[in-house]
Amino acid sequence: MHHFHYVNGELYCEDVPLKTIAREVGTPCYVYSHATITHHFRVFDGAFNSFDHLTCFAVKASSNIGILHILGQLGSGMDIVSGGELYRALKAGIPANRIVYSGVGKTEEEIDFALKEGILMFNIESSEELKVINERAGKLKVKAPIAIRVNPDVDPQTHPYISTGLKKNKFGIDVESAVDEYRKAASLENVEIIGVDCHIGSQLTELLPFVDALRRLKALINRLEEEGIHIRYLDLGGGLGITYEDEQPPHPSEYAEAILKELKDAPYRLIFEPGRVIVGNAGILLTKVLYTKQTPSKNFIIVDAAMNDLIRPSLYGSYHRIVPVNKFEDRSEEKFDIVGPICESGDFLARDRVLQKSFRGELLAVMSAGAYGFTMASNYNSRPRSAEVIVKDNSFQIIRERESWDDLIRLERIPNFS
Ligand SMILES: *Cc1c(COP(=O)(O)O)cnc(C)c1O
Repeated sequence: MHHFHYVNGELYCEDVPLKTIAREVGTPCYVYSHATITHHFRVFDGAFNSFDHLTCFAVKASSNIGILHILGQLGSGMDIVSGGELYRALKAGIPANRIVYSGVGKTEEEIDFALKEGILMFNIESSEELKVINERAGKLKVKAPIAIRVNPDVDPQTHPYISTGLKKNKFGIDVESAVDEYRKAASLENVEIIGVDCHIGSQLTELLPFVDALRRLKALINRLEEEGIHIRYLDLGGGLGITYEDEQPPHPSEYAEAILKELKDAPYRLIFEPGRVIVGNAGILLTKVLYTKQTPSKNFIIVDAAMNDLIRPSLYGSYHRIVPVNKFEDRSEEKFDIVGPICESGDFLARDRVLQKSFRGELLAVMSAGAYGFTMASNYNSRPRSAEVIVKDNSFQIIRERESWDDLIRLERIPNFS
């Protein structure tokens, strides 16, 4: 479900023609729908209404403080993976006690920042990290609330780059060693064990891996109870998939039903860390056709957005639907590669895609670009990063200015060696 739709052959976001945004803000440009973000959050969060829970949006999916603020006002907490994300979340007005901190490589500086702010929970990913967090908490004379991120060794059946819950992945602590690790944690002065955490991967389209992981975590929690270690928070991570092409991921209500069935009236507070399912289909990348070109083997549409703006097709071979902003009944369709200006053969947004014939100056929309789109953007080829715009009803606002050429070199210095 999203609020990008055609009116008389012209693509709108909510009640705003995308053409208007392109004219006033320029291209390439990320455009998000306020109604879609709000709806997706409410559907996901509301699906767990019968159970004590906190939905912590995964900041890395879409980090703009404007979007974090909107989610915060809906009651969302945040799942962060760096000090920078903590800084953003706080600036967006998210209370620290709604923030959980995951990630395998937390630095001392980041740990101190999170301890001082008083976040809800650290999701610990290694023995060594546990030791360091205990030390830092001691130095700051606070107790660090922790969960151990358990690697339940289930196969999420998703792209290898975005699966995280297999034994061979770098994430978490394997479920067999987890009891030992909890014992160790229980003996430490400055940490307080409050939870168990897992996150098995992204873009999952089946329920079974989630249920498998949950069962393994439940078994672990029972073992811990026997040892007198009491768990209050059960963090099940994120990972619910969305429709990019023809995937049919479970609806959040089906996901919730499957999870809650396993829990009955268990005395935990559940935490979820959804990213993609909240924002993925709430954003598009608006781009303009620069040139068209025929070679003996291919038709190319060269657009002003590139892999630096949206790297998912190049990095994961991901599919994004691409549609014309203006549809013309009398235009023929052909097969095109839609590519950007970057000097890499891997710089494509789509390959062998059947699309209405397009001409220089016309607009295309790359759909489902709201998650892992702008947040993975770079300045490769010295391309300023695009603007971000949010639409609400019939108005829109820029939530991130387009970078300038000055921005590209602002932090750089010419050395004055003699
Ligand atoms: C990336 C990530 C998420 C969010 O994943 P989605 O697939 O976007 O829901 C949640 N938790 C952790 C620890 C992550 O790394």
